[in-house]
Amino acid sequence: MLLIPSGVKAVFFDAVGTLLFPEPSAPVVYAEAARRYGFHLSANDVRKRFIAAYQREETADVAAQWVTSEARERDRWRIIVADTLAGVTDPEACYLHLFNHFAKPSAWRVNSDAAEVLAVLQSRGFILGMGSNYDARLWPLLNTFLELAPLRDRVVISATAGVRKPGRGFFHAVLSAAGCEPGEVLFVGDDLNNDYDGATAAGMHAVLLDPHAKYSDIPHRITRLADLIG
Ligand SMILES: [Mg+2]
Repeated sequence: MLLIPSGVKAVFFDAVGTLLFPEPSAPVVYAEAARRYGFHLSANDVRKRFIAAYQREETADVAAQWVTSEARERDRWRIIVADTLAGVTDPEACYLHLFNHFAKPSAWRVNSDAAEVLAVLQSRGFILGMGSNYDARLWPLLNTFLELAPLRDRVVISATAGVRKPGRGFFHAVLSAAGCEPGEVLFVGDDLNNDYDGATAAGMHAVLLDPHAKYSDIPHRITRLADLIG
């Protein structure tokens, strides 16, 4: 159970890893895509390669001061797929296959707490929204999953905002979507650096969703979304 600090008027949520999860998991989907293009590796090998490739792109984004765009997001995923699945017969086709896979609602599941948590927060008068480092592929998901309907009017996507989390400009876009001062916004997400530290640095309240209880030293954390409503 977590009490939302007094003075908070708006609650914004991260998307992937907080409200939305790939199902099957990304490593399983990548391994299947690799197999389709003539390259066999385990989901575990995918996971290791993916983390390394993903981290290289994070470093590139730090150097670019977190500037992003739809084009940059496509490039990011093209590079991550090419690096993670180096060995496939047709890297471009494999990338497109994966890019399109994750644009489909059938590739995702919604956090089972989401419907209740969002309905309760809405009934308590909170302004609700979403702040995501994903890209335009979020829209088909938002338009399909009715549980997420309370968020649809205030969606900040980094590829559109031009800056990604944890960049300060991203959180400025959240404030303008919320119509609030920093101290009036609570940001909820599963990524320590992008969500928790980024929002805190922007003067917001932050809560880390930590389902596997990995961050016991973080003061404001919950292990399930339902803890937000006590
Ligand atoms: Mg996340």
